[in-house]
Amino acid sequence: MTPTAALLAALALPLTSVTFGYILLCWVRPFGPCPHCHGTARTESRFTRRTRPCRHCDHTGLRLRVGRRAYNTLRRLLP
Ligand SMILES: [Zn+2]
Repeated sequence: MTPTAALLAALALPLTSVTFGYILLCWVRPFGPCPHCHGTARTESRFTRRTRPCRHCDHTGLRLRVGRRAYNTLRRLLP
């Protein structure tokens, strides 16, 4: 085994494990916390500092993960 092949093999294993881990996460838990309200479902207004329902997640605190959104789009597009 050449050093280049060994380096590529050493890089491929973590990348594939991270990729399959994310795919598994998208399958088991398709919804993640909303990045705007951090899962609290409420945001603070910019000027008055009053809290109000988060409009990005429709007051649920959850958003569909990017990987799951891509999977759903591919399922709709492919027959
Ligand atoms: Zn939110």
